Amino acid sequence: MPDRIPRLGDVIDDYCPRCRLLLNHDVSSLYGGDVAKVTCRTCHDTHDYRHAQVPAKRKGKKDDKQTLLEQVLASMPKPPEPPPPPPADLKKKRDLWADVERIKGQKKD
Ligand SMILES: [Zn+2]
Repeated sequence: MPDRIPRLGDVIDDYCPRCRLLLNHDVSSLYGGDVAKVTCRTCHDTHDYRHAQVPAKRKGKKDDKQTLLEQVLASMPKPPEPPPPPPADLKKKRDLWADVERIKGQKKD
């Protein structure tokens, strides 16, 4: 990959501390032939060029998120439990079996 001299207005990838993402940036300041400052094309925030390096995520951040999700889930109302089968159904079933038995009895006769 040949070295390309950055120029003002060039679009380069860099980490935006405001968007917290690796995004397109305009080169807004040069220092000694190197990019000094960049402007985020998404939020237009100008910040020091970070050489497209995403800062290491803080340990435990993911756990915090999971905990938060768990908290949200815990605060949500639980889905209603399926209602127990009404006793009428059981009676019906019993009646059906009784009918079957009756039919059987009739056949015997
Ligand atoms: Zn941004």
